[in-house]
Amino acid sequence: MEDCLFCKIIRGEIPSTKLFEDAHAYAFLDINPFGKGHTLVVPKFHAEQLFFLPPEELAGVMPAVQRVACLLRRKLGCDGLALMQLNGACAGQTVGHVHFHLIPRYAGQPAGWAPLEGEAAREAKDFEALRKQILG
Ligand code: AMP
Ligand code: ZN
Repeated sequence: MEDCLFCKIIRGEIPSTKLFEDAHAYAFLDINPFGKGHTLVVPKFHAEQLFFLPPEELAGVMPAVQRVACLLRRKLGCDGLALMQLNGACAGQTVGHVHFHLIPRYAGQPAGWAPLEGEAAREAKDFEALRKQILG
């Protein structure tokens, strides 16, 4: 879709730190991470919300969600991972293209969801270092 932020990222018109891509899915680091390695996995098919994504496109993207989750666990050593998918402004959705948040979780981390701050934010926003760690 012409004016969609994530379609532009998929097409390479807006830069992203890409971690994975196949025929159905595109995965990249979230620019405002809630955890070190916070990744978005998006279907290449443009649909604004889960309600409107054809089931075969959902089936196409889910293997990438699992694959990237396993990659993050293996390379970052996270103890767990939260999978989040928001639909509608009232649910907190801000970008109108279906996306799955993969948020690595680490033992001892405070509970709750908020953008990281301070040193943790600096570490999680060193996208090039993270890309090397995850893909290297
Ligand atoms: P949501 O609130 O579920 O719609 O999440 C949208 C996510 O997209 C947020 O976590 C943003 O930080 C993230 N985001 C917005 N613009 C970009 C971008 N250019 N590159 C990477 N992530 C982005
Ligand atoms: Zn789109």
